Amino acid sequence: MNNVPFLDLKGINAQYRDELIAACTKVVDSGWYIMGNELAQFEQEFANYCGTRYSVGVANGLDALILTLRAWKELGKLKDGDEVIVPSNTYIASILAISANNLVPVLVEPDLASYNLCPVKAAAAITLKTRAILPVHLYGQLADMPAIMDIAQRYNLLVLEDSAQAHGASIDGKKAGNWGDASGFSFYPGKNLGALGDAGAVTTNDDELAETLRALRNYGSLEKYKNLFQGMNSRLDEIQAAMLSVKLKHLDTEIAHRRKVAATYLAGINNTAIILPTPHDEAHVWHVFVIRCEQREALQKHLLDSGIQTLIHYPIPPHQQQAYREWNMDSYPLAELIHQQVISLPIGPTITDEQVIAVIKACNSYKG
Ligand SMILES: *Cc1c(COP(=O)(O)O)cnc(C)c1O
Repeated sequence: MNNVPFLDLKGINAQYRDELIAACTKVVDSGWYIMGNELAQFEQEFANYCGTRYSVGVANGLDALILTLRAWKELGKLKDGDEVIVPSNTYIASILAISANNLVPVLVEPDLASYNLCPVKAAAAITLKTRAILPVHLYGQLADMPAIMDIAQRYNLLVLEDSAQAHGASIDGKKAGNWGDASGFSFYPGKNLGALGDAGAVTTNDDELAETLRALRNYGSLEKYKNLFQGMNSRLDEIQAAMLSVKLKHLDTEIAHRRKVAATYLAGINNTAIILPTPHDEAHVWHVFVIRCEQREALQKHLLDSGIQTLIHYPIPPHQQQAYREWNMDSYPLAELIHQQVISLPIGPTITDEQVIAVIKACNSYKG
């Protein structure tokens, strides 16, 4: 019997156990736990990695998105009631960040081939109130940023990338986080760059935005006891920053492994009941490997019977969530189809060749 876990987090971090413990010990012994050298160093390293001038560490990925929109409000670039275009099939956090700022999410359907925001439909959804686009690099694949940036320029819109799943993905050598006016990242443990707790960051090339974010994450303050804004407490602590500096060194090796596994799945799975993702080389870092199947539950059970654990990203689209009751009667057929049919196969930096072969065999022996 196979045993293929969806993602072996314990195994992933065990690879770097000595480095992680050494980095942790250094922080413990330093006596400095919030807003110190570890954070400053990680912010510099992560900005360098993304190719941006700045990265600002925050408490998690949702806060990275919330605080960026909030900063644009403080800077007079957005105001209550402005519309923000966002994909209809994203993880709900992208949309929560918009609502949390009294902005209006305008859901736009994705491209079925990439599962990412469709630029043509995004352009068609622009109204006089549209002020921003929030593309999501879903499943680890960069959205069509050249086309989205063209539209943004034409209509003078801000672009906030949701890069929570796409650290290191690139188009023409330009990485996630360096396309829009700003980008939110999550370092939730299961993400491609994962901390050992919650963490997030915003990347940007805009100094005014970076400065505003540094204040907003810290009670609105840049100088002790002086508050420029009614900010929040959303800081990335020293221990998590130190963990992330260790993990960042290994990120490209891990992405290479994910790409190799994805290529093996794409070449090996040949069941007509299964729709494979469209490969996109450098644009995809395979945070998850998502296939589609009309009888998703039957396939999931068949795989589980073969010892293969899968997950669904995601079972319920945002507009059908109770949290957004007002949209429950609206219809987004592509988002609904995707949420009904998707299933994510195991992929990760520690999955073995044998496990990959077992997954392929189990997929190919499914009788749809
Ligand atoms: C994980 C995720 C977030 C939120 O990140 P947290 O660190 O969990 O707050 C936002 N958007 C997307 C697309 C995500 O996958």
